[in-house]
This record gives sequence, C-alpha cells and structure tokens, in this order.
Amino acid sequence: MAKRIQISQHGGPEVMQLIDVAIPEPAAGEVVVENKAIGINYIDTYVRSGLYPASLPSGLGTEAAGVVKSVGEGVTALKVGDRVVYAQSALGSYSEYHAVHVDKLALLPDNISFEQAAASFLKGLTVHYLLRQTYVVQPDEIFLFHAAAGGVGLIACQWAKALGAHLIGTVGSADKAQRAKQAGAWATINYREEDLASRVGELTDGKKVRVVYDSVGKDTWEASLDCLQRRGLMVSFGNSSGPVSGVNLAILNQKGSLYVTRPSLNGYVTTRDALTSASNELFSLIGSGAIKVEVPPQQKFALKDAQQAHKTLESRATQGSSLLIP
Ligand code: NDP
Repeated sequence: MAKRIQISQHGGPEVMQLIDVAIPEPAAGEVVVENKAIGINYIDTYVRSGLYPASLPSGLGTEAAGVVKSVGEGVTALKVGDRVVYAQSALGSYSEYHAVHVDKLALLPDNISFEQAAASFLKGLTVHYLLRQTYVVQPDEIFLFHAAAGGVGLIACQWAKALGAHLIGTVGSADKAQRAKQAGAWATINYREEDLASRVGELTDGKKVRVVYDSVGKDTWEASLDCLQRRGLMVSFGNSSGPVSGVNLAILNQKGSLYVTRPSLNGYVTTRDALTSASNELFSLIGSGAIKVEVPPQQKFALKDAQQAHKTLESRATQGSSLLIP
C-alpha cells in the first residue's frame, strides 16, 4: 500500500485527506515513479478550491522527482532505477507513487538533487516559456514581473539576470524585496505600499515597460496595464489573488492599444522534444549555478501535512518554492 492525498470535494485546505491506496501499475506508455520530493504549486490550490476543473474524487499535484519503480509497455526511453523529474502529470503527484506518461518525464542529471528538481521543474519550465517564448526578453531590457519572491518569481529573477535583462519585481514585504534582489532582481516594488505604475515610471525614466508578467491576477490587472508602453504586452499567467474576469476590451484601447495573452505551460510544452529542450536549458542553468534552488527548512512539509503547506502558501508567508516530502 501507499499514501496519497485525495480530495472528495472542493474547498479549503481541510478537504485534502491522506489515504492508503494500492501502489499503481503503469499503463502502456507510463512509468510509475517512487516520489522522493514533491513540488507544491499555487495551481494545486486552484484545483483544490474548484477554480480549475477536476473530476472528484481526485488526487492533487502534477510535479515530483524520484526513481522509476516500474515501466509500462512500449516505454524504451526509461528503465527501473532511473532518477527522473516530471511536471504536468495527471493529477496525483501528492503521493508516494505516481503513474506518469513518459512524455512528461525528464532524466535528472546527477548534479541536481530530487529536492532541487521538484522545487524548480514546473516553475522553471514556466519561466522558460515566459521569458524565452511568450515574449523574448532582451539583454538590458527593463520589464515587470509580479510576485518576484515566490516560487516562479525567484527563478525568474535569476533567469533574467542570466539573460542580462533588468527585472523589476513586485513583492509583498521588505524581506521578500531583499530575497528577490539577492536572486538578481534589478529593482523591487512593494505593491502593498507603493503605487505600481508611478514606481515603474520612475524606474524607467517615464518610458514604462514593453512587457508585464502578471500571476497575481485580479488585484494587479489594471495597475499592470498602466505600467505598459503603447502597444505593450500584458502576460496574465496566474490568479494568486483571484481570476481576472469581466474585462471590457475597450480598456486595451484606452490604455494604449495594448496586447494581452493568457498562456499556460500546457500550451507551450506540448511534446517530449519541447520538454527535453526546455529542461536541458533549465538543468544547464542550475548546473552552472546561475539558478540556485534552495528550499528553506520551514517550507519542506511531510506529505501528511499537505493542509498546512497549502495554508502557508495561501497566506503569502513563503519565499521561493515549497515541497512535500513523502
Ligand atoms: P508563489 O510562490 O508565487 O505564491 C504566490 C505569491 O503571490 C504569494 O507568495 C504572494 O507574494 C503573491 N500574492 C499576491 N497577492 C496574493 C493573494 N491575494 N493571495 C496569495 N498570494 C498573493 O506561487 P507559485 O510560484 O507556485 O506560482 C506563482 C504564480 O504563477 C501563480 O499565480 C500560478 O498560478 C502561476 N503559474 C502559472 C503557470 C502558467 O503556465 N500559466 C505555471 C506555473 C505557475 P507577495 O507576498 O510577494 O505578494
């Protein structure tokens, strides 16, 4: 038997229950991974709350790193004992064992630990497509990235620095500002205290920015548009404060003929080749030390403490990534 987090209804963290299940068998094209470290993503809270769809009862989580325990029919790329990391799996990575399609898995280089991998894979692939594909950030370019001290945010700070770009990061506290700066943010704005658009104006000599990456959603939507140059691009990629809804498209005209995109990782990493190419880039930045992935001890939770982990994440108390350890 194995432990797994399951939800039978949508709601707050209390709907997550630890249950015993049989160790899964791999279907054709799948491997079963014995998870060693499980990545917690803000998206998991949307699935739990019902903001994102799931048929109940459901597992939670789509990311972990571990060791291949068994291999299904037709899988030739991986063998029992391989060290692997995965993201975008079927729901259920909050578990000791998870069956994962081979297209969602990457072999883990020896110099990257399970914890580093689970803390950076989904978030790093996200930063990869945001900065390298959705809008190609240029050296010396100044741009705005929200929640810069978060899991995705700290990787974005470091990736931007590696590209020679100047990331202005929003943060919710002075501690978080310091952490984002340490990770390579060129400037920070405490959006709980400072006026976002005026500060972006000051930092850019009145020019504003060509791209805003906004994962906060509802609370920052309109202020983010005010930070954009004429014909700039708003990349709205998350809902940490709640989803953006009821938008009158005329606002894009009024604020300067703006563009908006609402991307997701699933729309970019669609093939095994795309996964391999993006993960190689990520692993090489981690391997070179350009991206450091350090999870503070208080953000490593036992699998049975998944409720507490979600409470902590949703209270805005975390910096960088958080993990569940089976
Ligand atoms: P984070 O570690 O960034 O946690 C969320 C952060 O958002 C908080 O720490 C907080 O930082 C900030 N925040 C602002 N307002 C609120 C609020 N009202 N409630 C809670 N948090 C708030 O999470 P992740 O790194 O896991 O994810 C970051 C974002 O990226 C999420 O919105 C997620 O959905 C999105 N995402 C999107 C993907 C895509 O492909 N579209 C893929 C992966 C993630 P502070 O205190 O500094 O304000």
